[in-house]
Amino acid sequence: MATKVKDPVCNMEIDPSQAAASQEHEGQTFYFCSHGCHDTFRKDPHRYGHPGEHHGEHGGHMHS
Ligand SMILES: [Zn+2]
Repeated sequence: MATKVKDPVCNMEIDPSQAAASQEHEGQTFYFCSHGCHDTFRKDPHRYGHPGEHHGEHGGHMHS
């Protein structure tokens, strides 16, 4: 049984074996539902690369 992971860009839960793309960041592997989410992550990995602690950081409101 596969463990679901969260796409850090759109917060969708996905199966890693069905992810469109993956990316390592600071020793952690992130998975993405689409290449668009992967591109978004690569442009600004620090915005998305810290799950659970991105609240109010960087002055952005990108998580709606
Ligand atoms: Zn996505």
